[in-house]
Amino acid sequence: MNSQNIFENALKQNHISLTKPRQAVFDALQHHKSLSMAELVSACSDVDRASVYRTTDTFEKLGIIMRIPTGWKYRLELGEAFHEHHHHATCSSCGASIALPEDPALERRLQDLAHRRNFTLTSHQIELTGLCETCQ
Ligand SMILES: [Zn+2]
Ligand SMILES: [Zn+2]
Repeated sequence: MNSQNIFENALKQNHISLTKPRQAVFDALQHHKSLSMAELVSACSDVDRASVYRTTDTFEKLGIIMRIPTGWKYRLELGEAFHEHHHHATCSSCGASIALPEDPALERRLQDLAHRRNFTLTSHQIELTGLCETCQ
């Protein structure tokens, strides 16, 4: 199943119609991988700002997109159904968000840690901050 099919199914399952603004927001995130809210608004030039915000809220509830915290701000990217699970490192100097490679050993380790407290881990986000290659 490609990304467009996953997207359409997620809407259908929740009885939400596929409108032009919704497709535009999805396309922008698919092409850019990760966007700030302001970048998303300007990437969807045919959609008014209020619709972009509304669509973002809807998509977040459906898990189509997720917020990646970067300090006190956040970036938006497509949810885990659309790509492999991975973590991000944010550069504290220029704000770049670097996708780290997937690491099954780390994932197992987290499950393990949670399990030791009888906690069932369903999802997690790890916030990593530092300096990117350019800013070092
Ligand atoms: Zn940097
Ligand atoms: Zn992880």
